[in-house]
Amino acid sequence: MIYMDTASTSKYQSKDDIIVNTMVTAMMDNWMNPSSLYATNVKDKIDKCRTNIAEFIGAKTEEIIFTSGASESNNMAIRGWVEQKNCELNEKYHDVLKYYDLTLPVVLVSEIEHKSILDLLCKGNIMTIRHPLYVGKDGMLSLNYLEDKLKTYEFSNTPILVTVCMANNEIGTIQPIKKISELVHKYGGVLHVDATQVLGHIPIDVEYLGIDMMSCSGHKISPVLRGIGFLYKRNGINIKPLIYGTQENRLRGGTENTYGIIGLSKALEYCDVSITTMKRLRRKRDYFIERLECEFNCTLNGHAIDRLPNNVNVIFPQNITGESLLYMLDVSGIKCSVGSACNSKSIEPSHVLTAIGLNNEQAMRSVRFTLAYDVTYEQIDKVIEEIGKCLKLIETES
Ligand code: PMP
Repeated sequence: MIYMDTASTSKYQSKDDIIVNTMVTAMMDNWMNPSSLYATNVKDKIDKCRTNIAEFIGAKTEEIIFTSGASESNNMAIRGWVEQKNCELNEKYHDVLKYYDLTLPVVLVSEIEHKSILDLLCKGNIMTIRHPLYVGKDGMLSLNYLEDKLKTYEFSNTPILVTVCMANNEIGTIQPIKKISELVHKYGGVLHVDATQVLGHIPIDVEYLGIDMMSCSGHKISPVLRGIGFLYKRNGINIKPLIYGTQENRLRGGTENTYGIIGLSKALEYCDVSITTMKRLRRKRDYFIERLECEFNCTLNGHAIDRLPNNVNVIFPQNITGESLLYMLDVSGIKCSVGSACNSKSIEPSHVLTAIGLNNEQAMRSVRFTLAYDVTYEQIDKVIEEIGKCLKLIETES
């Protein structure tokens, strides 16, 4: 099997044995409820992990809130911030609000964000004004457009949240987070970053980057870490909980996922975010892209340089759909993705690809390959060979 779908979940590798063993040991040694007064060893263990994770991203221990994953963290950050701001506005403008529809908190967001964010803002019955941000053909956020938007609220006292995916899960484009945070803060806004595809793959320093809130997920680092993630929330940023209860400093109710937390902390010890490792993977990625472009006339989706070292997303020119190619490659043991939303009745073109200007037909001809660190050049050659066979077959049949 050649697994080229690490953006959907990380590939099982030998280091995952260590994570599993650590978690199994924790199940035997740390099984008591961390909230029980006598279970101080479990509580201490969780706090030690919290510190390790915080240090990994340049944060303070108390700034980490454990969640079930990035979807929950995204919802928590955005809804929590909006509800908090609405409370503050209600208190401040209590009388005025009765007579004027004075103001609502504003969320600025582009169309290439993850569905957990877009659906929340569209369908989540959330009291906010949503403004779209513009992204170019390569998936890069337009900073001029962002600044123009921020300027329109400059003297209004309107609370503003900007939410940005640090690296897009479909096209791999990496945003200039430091520049974005400088702009957002210049106009008094708050920046939430979805770093799901980045944690453990590229170095992150929340302090340096100027991030106010950041969502992360465990299973993009190790597949055994399904159902654990966290929200980084800078001290001084206030949000309402999504799940009420006493745990996590009253910000996220529910008995802690002790084993997930211990596993996540262990997994980060084994993450290699060194320049050498990233360069090595980038070289393999670029070799793959070059062969796809030269041999099949593919066109790259996303930014050519500022992109995740593991991400290859291309449009195939032939008269095929990405979905049919995916099924054919699956038969040969090659796992990739079409980055499209599936349901039992229809396959819709990816909202990310259409947002960067592809028409539906081009979006349907796109395929995403996301490489594991241990992918070999021989495996890439094999995938190229198999794609060639599939395209020939499709050609002769049509
Ligand atoms: N954001 C991004 C950018 C993602 O890639 C994903 C996972 N596909 C999520 C959020 C959701 O993560 P989780 O599965 O942990 O809820």
